[in-house]
Amino acid sequence: MARKIRKVAVLGAGVMGAQIACHFANIGIEVLLLDMPAKEINEKEQKAGLLPEHPKVRNRIVNDLFLKATRLKPAPLYLQTYSNRITTGNFEDDLHKIAECDWVIEAIIENLKIKQELYTKIEKHRKPGSLITTNTSGIPIQMLIQGRSEDFAAHFCGTHFFNPPRYLKLLEIIPSPNTNQEVIDFLTDFGERFLGKSVVSCKDTPAFIANRVGVYSMMSVFHLIDEFGFTVDEIDKLTGPIIGRPKSATFRTCDVVGLDTLVFVAQNLQKALQDDEAKDVFQIPEFIQHMMGNQWLGSKTGQGFYKKIKSEGKSEILSLNLESFEYQEKQRVKFGEFEAAKAVPHLNDRFKVLLKGNSKVNQFYQKMFFGLFAYVSNRMPEITDDLYKIDEAICSGFAWEMGPFEIWESLGAKKTLSMMEEMGFKAANWVHNMVQEDLGFYQLKDGLKQYYDVNTNAHQTIPGTENLVLLNNLRSSKTIWSNEGASIIDLGDGIINLEFHTKMNTIGSEIIQGTNKAIELAESDYKALIISNEGENFSAGAILDWYLCWPLNRSLKSWTWLFALSKIQC
Ligand code: NAD
Repeated sequence: MARKIRKVAVLGAGVMGAQIACHFANIGIEVLLLDMPAKEINEKEQKAGLLPEHPKVRNRIVNDLFLKATRLKPAPLYLQTYSNRITTGNFEDDLHKIAECDWVIEAIIENLKIKQELYTKIEKHRKPGSLITTNTSGIPIQMLIQGRSEDFAAHFCGTHFFNPPRYLKLLEIIPSPNTNQEVIDFLTDFGERFLGKSVVSCKDTPAFIANRVGVYSMMSVFHLIDEFGFTVDEIDKLTGPIIGRPKSATFRTCDVVGLDTLVFVAQNLQKALQDDEAKDVFQIPEFIQHMMGNQWLGSKTGQGFYKKIKSEGKSEILSLNLESFEYQEKQRVKFGEFEAAKAVPHLNDRFKVLLKGNSKVNQFYQKMFFGLFAYVSNRMPEITDDLYKIDEAICSGFAWEMGPFEIWESLGAKKTLSMMEEMGFKAANWVHNMVQEDLGFYQLKDGLKQYYDVNTNAHQTIPGTENLVLLNNLRSSKTIWSNEGASIIDLGDGIINLEFHTKMNTIGSEIIQGTNKAIELAESDYKALIISNEGENFSAGAILDWYLCWPLNRSLKSWTWLFALSKIQC
């Protein structure tokens, strides 16, 4: 019988649980959100004459947490009114209601014993065959199912959402050997089609894929600070948008996530990892210990690597000096190396510019990236058998534009491997085998991206991408016309695509020229025209100075298109 999800129970209404509940409500699903009951009445309840057994008192914890979540920015709900799809309750009075649910998602405190105790209670009420999953960040799934019934274990796995769950695309699915394949297949499809996630199946290894690699990457940057002496502002400049990572780069990301959370994951990894050659990278450096001691944990404690202050009625952001541990005015950081890199429009080509040379910046990048490349190569087959999953997980979980193997490929797999080895970074043997065969991590074939499969020593199409049309993959071989700001790409089946590639895809003369050309081609030789691009924004609108100077004798067609395009919002 086809599985249907009509009602979901989310157990735990903390940072993750409440937001996961909101995301299910977003897609029209009824949600039961439970948390611990409040045991005592507070002053306000006493004044209102409520008794401890009153539902308002019993459900105070869950209701307060849920209300807090609905006020978060960015908003976890598509529309505030969708909160009426969520019913709240508590583990003592309402757990029996999970019998009506098709999927139970546990998102309580990260503690094996407490989670197991809750599962014992869940066993008594869940309907056989219903899905039961955990949002754990790293407790082994195999340990969580100890003592559980066959039906429970067969329908149990990890579903690791990233924070904030509405916005971060990654959903890691972690089965145990007991999980039914039907459950994995269903959750993968549901995650992608209904929750809008990029689903990556992981092995049951410490911190799974994205956090294992992402936390390694952050910790390795912390350790490089000692060697290179870069400041907080400089590191965020070096590890931000210039290398395809979010503006929050390294330190601002720590402040948002909370330094304690990062340290917790790093320490757990250090304890859990036995044969990891880079285990020491997860050691907490002294400056982080100092910050932890002072409770400088980031946004949650009001200060971390950055601190917002108000002076003369204006707010100002200060950054932490990692030597004196004093907050100082933010520096305006300028690196000469960035000038050349910024002139390279495609990120894919930028790494070559940034890593080439012997300046302090070049050397920092070499050490940072070569360490990361070696690390991810050595994680296979430990954390996954398929290299593309590492790239996919880190890109959708940490919002990087390119994953480690994609960056390595852009630098040249073979050439980079010998540079790495010269500098003492040891990659896994399979990379040596691959380059000996003159193969790379990825290749394009008939517009499809293929990855190097270690097991077959050959390239394979990334599963699930067979029917995707990606302009990035077609651009080099199927462009039939282009100018500085627009390209026309033949998608096959008589269809062409007009792509913009000006700065922020603003509309100026090149795009109008491209539009006219595309209409002309579509009308004469093709069946249809699509206007789409894979930029961060579809278009920031028209370039105003150009727009005003556009000679009035141009064709009406162009004006109509320009007007229509500048109105399109994506
Ligand atoms: P949280 O501390 O915000 O919420 C935990 C919830 O557990 C609270 O609502 C609390 O009332 C409840 N709880 C505490 N003690 C309990 C007990 N004895 N019995 C039952 N419930 C109890 O935590 P969170 O950040 O929402 O994390 C929840 C889960 O999600 C954890 O497994 C965590 O590792 C995982 N996770 C967290 C993040 C994140 O960024 N915070 C990201 C991914 C996964």
